[in-house]
Amino acid sequence: MLSRRVSLWVGLTACVVACVRTPVTNRAQFSLIPDGIMRGLGGATYDDMLQGERVLKKTEDAELLRSVGRRIARVADVPSYDWSFALIKEDDTVNAWCLPGGKIGFYTGILPALRNEAGMAFVMGHEVAHATAHHSAERLSQQVALLGGLVGLELYLAKNSEMELEQRAALYGALGVGAAVGVVLPFSRFHESEADSIGVMYMARAGYPPRESIRVWERMEAEQDGFAIPAFLSTHPSHERRQVRLEEWMGRANKRYQRNALPRETQKALWSK
Ligand SMILES: [Zn+2]
Repeated sequence: MLSRRVSLWVGLTACVVACVRTPVTNRAQFSLIPDGIMRGLGGATYDDMLQGERVLKKTEDAELLRSVGRRIARVADVPSYDWSFALIKEDDTVNAWCLPGGKIGFYTGILPALRNEAGMAFVMGHEVAHATAHHSAERLSQQVALLGGLVGLELYLAKNSEMELEQRAALYGALGVGAAVGVVLPFSRFHESEADSIGVMYMARAGYPPRESIRVWERMEAEQDGFAIPAFLSTHPSHERRQVRLEEWMGRANKRYQRNALPRETQKALWSK
């Protein structure tokens, strides 16, 4: 009976792992949390995050952000998502974010590094990719699995070992921290690289020149001189690593771009410092 249950569990887990795949990179994903739950969490968090912020609605920049967002969302092709794109007035914050279900925020501080519509389209592609590749669900699933593993270990050790509760608690602390540093964090860097790859393909599909993606990173890195590291960089892989990864996708992205290129207008400088 037990072995039957185990094989059913293994089968189900394998199905969950094998049945979910990322767009563009087509990677099999470990996901325990249904998309409906993630979308609900994303929507509620979005309202919280915008509370007390100055969200620009009728400016040219805000309108451009929504139009670029809609273009990228169209090629990302997830009709069930209710996309929202908020431009937040905060000139010192060089950052953008994405919540599950397609809730995206850009701070005005990132605009100079984007420089033009095509630059905006790349960061938009990157953020949209976090949503369509279910990166939050994957991270949360890892944490749930980790917690499940610790609970299992406690049940086993409490019954079968002579360790005192305090010793066991110290062990879980060490294991938990080790796992968070060793497993969860590097994976997040991996997600960042993956969002670059998917994002550059999205921008190309939408008709923006993919080369601009590398220029955006160059400009962000140039901004670091003499200033604090932009938040967008500090949580993301190094510039050289990103450039290598983007170059790997450039051939494919260029082919896609040439088929449906928008006018060169999209590369006209819009923001500068
Ligand atoms: Zn990112």
